[in-house]
Amino acid sequence: MQKSPEEVWTRCLKIFKDNVNLQSYKTWFEPIKPIKIENNNLTIQVPSQFFYEWLEEHFVTLLRKTIKRELGENAGLEYQIIVDNGNASNPQTINYPAYKTGGTYNNEVNVPLKFGTIKNPFVIPGIKKVHIDPQLNPTYNFESFVEGECNKLARSAGTAVANNPGGTAFNPLVLYGGVGLGKTHLSQAIGNMIKIKYSSKTVLYVASEKFASQFYEAVQKNSINDFVHFYQLIDVLILDDIQFFANKERTQDILFSIFNHLHQCKKQLILTSDRPPKDLEGIEDRLLSRFKWGLAADLQIPDFETRVAILEKKLYSDGIEFPQDVVEFIAYNIKTNVRELEGALISLVAQASLNKREVDLDLAKKIVKNFVKNISREISIDFIQNTVCDYFDVPVEMLKEKTRKRAIVQARQLSMFLSKGLTKNSLKVIGKHFGGRDHSTVIHSCQAIQNLMDTDGTFKEQVADIQKKIQLSI
Ligand code: ADP
Ligand code: MG
Repeated sequence: MQKSPEEVWTRCLKIFKDNVNLQSYKTWFEPIKPIKIENNNLTIQVPSQFFYEWLEEHFVTLLRKTIKRELGENAGLEYQIIVDNGNASNPQTINYPAYKTGGTYNNEVNVPLKFGTIKNPFVIPGIKKVHIDPQLNPTYNFESFVEGECNKLARSAGTAVANNPGGTAFNPLVLYGGVGLGKTHLSQAIGNMIKIKYSSKTVLYVASEKFASQFYEAVQKNSINDFVHFYQLIDVLILDDIQFFANKERTQDILFSIFNHLHQCKKQLILTSDRPPKDLEGIEDRLLSRFKWGLAADLQIPDFETRVAILEKKLYSDGIEFPQDVVEFIAYNIKTNVRELEGALISLVAQASLNKREVDLDLAKKIVKNFVKNISREISIDFIQNTVCDYFDVPVEMLKEKTRKRAIVQARQLSMFLSKGLTKNSLKVIGKHFGGRDHSTVIHSCQAIQNLMDTDGTFKEQVADIQKKIQLSI
């Protein structure tokens, strides 16, 4: 019986959801409409040409594999693209011919992580080492990992390990840091580099959660020995998010014995964790002490310049250009998580494509609001005062005092000047915020600043700099 396109698509969506992050899923998969299935070709409708190209460029393997899985070996995928003819209720479409998912296209090496199930000893007795798929995502490499103060130590330790796996003092190498700061990326970059330099070494990346569930399965099937034996074959074991092992005693026991074996054989262990080893709770002491044998290096929150560099690298590799002020705006406002930084960028590209408009600062502000909570819409006088005082390193309370010290007077006058230019407050209200000064003082201050800017180029640049800081952060 012919399956309905909706049915098939609903199942495909489930697979997509498991294989891409939520942001990408919402942006790139939810808007797709299944149209029909004919001759085993599935036709899907996408909102624009750009959308089609993006899907083909970024998700082609996933799309083809999934559709093949749902419709069988000889399945095809056809796109229908909505063309803007100014008539929204009756859009024209153009079709892209079906390609066969089984055809010459072969991307086995690049199959994304979650696709390959670990070829495990439970199903293949006497497994040969060469057949173990490292489960690495090839895009997580050193070239794509931007260097900054925030990751200097971790990155260079990672390179040292990649150049000489098992042969440095960094064993285990523990990479730790908050969510979205690059632990998975960097740990896989090490694995990828080792695969290139030492192709005969068996590298395996595994999320701790997966390791634990494989272990439970082994317990149920009574095949713990196979499980241990399999992991003992590995030359470079990358175990991601070890905080997951907290309070899982049996899994910790088995990890302990695998760890000892690998370490004694001078095999490399790379572990990641969301906190430093000393703060891991619910992990046995004997395991913890081993985690401390090597080096623990942290990944910190990247500074503004590094965030800009990360965005630029990402844009460059996707072949997209954004105006500089948009890049800086995103980097300025999304501070604590690189994954969110990328999410904002993807949303922006998608919104621009869906609405057929250029990426500009206005659109960026709208999108970034969804990512940053408590973002203030209006610039406030307080915010201006804080920014100015921060810049000149003077205490903000002094703006409200009577002090006539030059540095304070200048910061006070400049704050008034910017409050007049950047907010809608009346002179009276502005004066009130500066210790109850009257409106003529505000006027006088603005004139003084204007005069100084006209005569002092350096000062003028400083003012421009501060103004940019203020405007970028709303
Ligand atoms: P974690 O595992 O620490 O939660 P990830 O490694 O998954 O974080 O990183 C989140 C996203 O941010 C990934 O897409 C990764 O490529 C990107 N990323 C993190 N740090 C950097 C960096 N220094 N340079 C480039 N991309 C980065
Ligand atoms: Mg991770």
